[in-house]
Amino acid sequence: MTWENRWHPLLERWVTVTSHRGTRPWLGGLVAEAPTAPQYDPGCYLCPGGERISGIKNTAYTACFVFDNDHPAFGASAPAPTPAPGIYESARADGLCRVLCYTPDHGGRLSGLSIRQFKEVVRCWRDQTAALMGDAGYEHVFIFENNGEVVGVSNPHPHCQIYATPFVFHTVAQEIQAVDRYRQAEAENLFDAIILSEQLDGRRILVETDDCLAFVPYFAQLPYETFIMPKGPWQRLPDMPERALDDLALALRAVLKMQDHLWPTPQSYILTVHQAPKSLSVDHDYRCYIRLQPMLRGPGLQKYLAGVETGGGQFLNDGSPEEKAAELSAAGLLVSK
Ligand SMILES: [Zn+2]
Repeated sequence: MTWENRWHPLLERWVTVTSHRGTRPWLGGLVAEAPTAPQYDPGCYLCPGGERISGIKNTAYTACFVFDNDHPAFGASAPAPTPAPGIYESARADGLCRVLCYTPDHGGRLSGLSIRQFKEVVRCWRDQTAALMGDAGYEHVFIFENNGEVVGVSNPHPHCQIYATPFVFHTVAQEIQAVDRYRQAEAENLFDAIILSEQLDGRRILVETDDCLAFVPYFAQLPYETFIMPKGPWQRLPDMPERALDDLALALRAVLKMQDHLWPTPQSYILTVHQAPKSLSVDHDYRCYIRLQPMLRGPGLQKYLAGVETGGGQFLNDGSPEEKAAELSAAGLLVSK
């Protein structure tokens, strides 16, 4: 049993590990098992040749396929903001939102891609980041995948989203400040310190390659949360050498397969790529990494983010990170390569 508070150094907050509560009586419903999707769905707006809401038809793509989101949250066509009353402020919701279909296979899954396809996806993330921060001039690029009905995904076609904005998203901004404060207090790089601490302990490491470490962090906020952290001083994906990008693809693919082999039904998750904004100085300690936040705490059992987490900002993790890492490693042994 693990019952203690653990400091999250990147978000500078306590996480409460309450593993004795993981087996508490559960009267909630089970998440319905998603029906197996066909390889091609003529009604899918993400499939090759599919017609989108804008009336534009997708190409007959055979590999990664990127297009501008027809319903963007941030867009160059967003209207001028209305004047804000009193102390409030408003700004135009400027930006660019894109969708990346990983594969033409409607019934596929990121974890099911071949190594070659997976490396292509990671390179597509890199190239989109370079283009959107380069010529397009956006300050920040945030890449994420919402996977599964429990995180509100209505279309199962395997895809992620790419948001380019003139400002930095809050979590990355918070992490940058934490890295700054750690440098001032300890005179070292926080990412190096986290990697070294995980290596010294070793119990939570899932995959280690020359250039990447994948682990359930000591301070995990969710039972199967996993970080895939490059070891080198790369602030963004375009800074990474080819060799390290390959390692990142291999480590992430291996971790996703572990997550999907825990139970008879696949995991649901939120995957986010954390990268430095464009204006961050080149000698800043911030590094790019991938955070995987699985949303099921058991087979078909959804982790609800309720009063304490959503209202209070205090995560209760009812799975010990050491035990959950062991479960994931054991699941990895079942994975065919
Ligand atoms: Zn589809």
